[in-house]
Amino acid sequence: MSFADLLPEIAARMPDLRGRLAANAMLADITWFRVGGPAQVLFTPADAADLAYFLAHISENEPITVIGLGSNLLVRDGGIPGVVIRLGRGFSQIAVEPGHRLRVGTAVPDVKLARAAADAGIAGLAFYRGVPGSVGGALRMNAGAHGRETKDVLVEAHAVDRQGRMHALPLAQMQLRYRRSGVPEDWIFTEALFQGTPGDPVAILKQMEEVAEYREANQPIKERTGGSTFKNPPGSSAWRLIDAAGCRGLRGGGAQVSEMHCNFLINDRNASAEDVETLGETVRARVRERCGMTLEWEIIRLGLPKQGHLTGEALARAFAP
Ligand SMILES: Cc1cc2nc3c(=O)[nH]c(=O)nc-3n(C[C@H](O)[C@H](O)[C@H](O)COP(=O)(O)OP(=O)(O)OC[C@H]3O[C@@H](n4cnc5c(N)ncnc54)[C@H](O)[C@@H]3O)c2cc1C
Repeated sequence: MSFADLLPEIAARMPDLRGRLAANAMLADITWFRVGGPAQVLFTPADAADLAYFLAHISENEPITVIGLGSNLLVRDGGIPGVVIRLGRGFSQIAVEPGHRLRVGTAVPDVKLARAAADAGIAGLAFYRGVPGSVGGALRMNAGAHGRETKDVLVEAHAVDRQGRMHALPLAQMQLRYRRSGVPEDWIFTEALFQGTPGDPVAILKQMEEVAEYREANQPIKERTGGSTFKNPPGSSAWRLIDAAGCRGLRGGGAQVSEMHCNFLINDRNASAEDVETLGETVRARVRERCGMTLEWEIIRLGLPKQGHLTGEALARAFAP
């Protein structure tokens, strides 16, 4: 599957663009599940000004998708039409600010944020040691672990909207809730300011080690996965329902419900994205049937199915009771 090459049109519209463009770039290489088709165009902006220039000049009709480190994504086998934006080196700055604060670019991995906070004696951010995404993904998903969430430590974020205008967003405007933000879907976060408290670097590093050990013992972090597949329904937990519905270890094509943690799907035998999505819908259907609860996907599914195959929505309908 490959898309028409948009690069000549983009180059003609944007002579001053400084970032990198690639046509039909494989996304399986840069997402955790290691499945899925190409991006029609993959754009890596040089910095926030370059990103704003791009968005101000790209056709309004061109679909734009932003991805981070791909740890919460399932890219479908037909790939993603339009432009996929992935932030890189131009968004990887980390600066310690007075008052136990850290200002970071949104391409910074969460693990690196946790480590920088520890080095600076800033406590409160050690939970990010357990989240394998980027700061941009953490802002969009209100990432959290071990009893803390992004909303507990964020002061403000900066974003660029679809027209290329820059915005500063204080915490309240981020509307962070369980695994989501209320900021318009097409805004791209570029920078974040975090607030911690004074702490001892040695104690913080120890706490981070404990987080890492817990992860290793309880989650399939060495597998090709996408993290928690479904959100915890209010008052319940997704894994308990999946277990009660008899889905632990369930297999579909090259994908499997993890034996270790059954809210994780894994690609252990060269699965397609369709294998993974179909398995997820099978789990949802069984949980609905046996426990009377409807699980909501936490993993973000993007793009088109293989030509002639069903979309995720159609799959869900096919599995509905
Ligand atoms: C083994 C494993 C363990 C995990 N454990 C946890 C956990 O404990 N807690 C938790 O919360 N999550 C967990 N996750 C899920 C995932 O790591 C988080 O959701 C993370 O925040 C996603 O970040 P990312 O950079 O990988 O984003 P992606 O997966 O690439 O994208 C996720 C969403 O964020 C959006 N996005 C990414 N960057 C930006 C940006 N700059 N601006 C605007 N939108 C953006 C994307 O459009 C998409 O909607 C886990 C995942 C794995 C694989």
